[in-house]
Amino acid sequence: MIYETAPAKINLTLDTLFKRDDGYHEIAMVMTTVDLNDRLSFQKRNDKNIVVDIEHNYVPNDHKNLAYRAAKLMMETYELNHGVTITIDKDIPVSAGLAGGSADAAATMRGMNRLYGLNRPLDELSKLGIQIGTDIPFCIYSKTAICTGRGEKVTFLNKPPSAWVVLAKPNLGISSPDIFKALNLNYAHHVHTKMCKEAINEGDYHRLCQSLSNRLEPVSMSLHPEIEKIKNNMLQCGADGALMSGSGPTVYGLAQKESQAKKIYNAVNGCCNEVYLVRLLG
Ligand code: ATP
Repeated sequence: MIYETAPAKINLTLDTLFKRDDGYHEIAMVMTTVDLNDRLSFQKRNDKNIVVDIEHNYVPNDHKNLAYRAAKLMMETYELNHGVTITIDKDIPVSAGLAGGSADAAATMRGMNRLYGLNRPLDELSKLGIQIGTDIPFCIYSKTAICTGRGEKVTFLNKPPSAWVVLAKPNLGISSPDIFKALNLNYAHHVHTKMCKEAINEGDYHRLCQSLSNRLEPVSMSLHPEIEKIKNNMLQCGADGALMSGSGPTVYGLAQKESQAKKIYNAVNGCCNEVYLVRLLG
């Protein structure tokens, strides 16, 4: 049996630069991880089947599961003659903007790499992973990085300064394709990618907080005003910075002191049913 941990990601920045000829958006995003994890285990099978063992109301256990798709990609690419049983113990909220499905897919690629003794470098898995989704190249490493292109170019940054993170997911579903469709690239919303990179490399926590910015945030907020309310609530309760992650709806707030983080946690706990108090990992 092989075990892998799949941490949730948060966007410190997210910028969409232009729409490409292939229909995808050219993006630039600074991402890091938090200690909110799914746990996966992998077992060899004697047949060629892929079995996903997960008990969750909103996550499929068939070929639609991103871990299943990652296992299939690994079997086809490396011509494996045996399948795998994947057990997923899920803590990352679903459809939240925290890349839970991508983290599971990336963990599956790493897990099968070990299970079958393939010894492929992570760089190769990362390149392969873009076939399944934008966030998978990043999730293969789960460090702190700036991802560009469609998400496949991963450039590592330093570990960010240590901080508490309060994550709050309002009870609403957001479809990333709908948010991208509603995005108007002519609408100016400045994303501080350069400032964020510099702040991380200099270990400047306060500058990092100032640089948090996401081009999709005003789009998701205009469709779901609750997101803006949570963000304002976090800032009023003393968060040093707050931002919606990915296409939302999860909003996170950063704090240096535990007491400050607990105050933010208590303030949003009443209005959201999924609230977590975790640490930045990076
Ligand atoms: P991202 O931040 O990459 O846009 P997300 O956090 O918004 O992702 P996910 O939690 O990855 O969203 O789930 C998105 C969809 O993928 C859901 O409809 C879910 O049912 C489906 N899905 C498939 N496999 C998984 C998985 N292993 N874990 C979670 N969701 C999965």
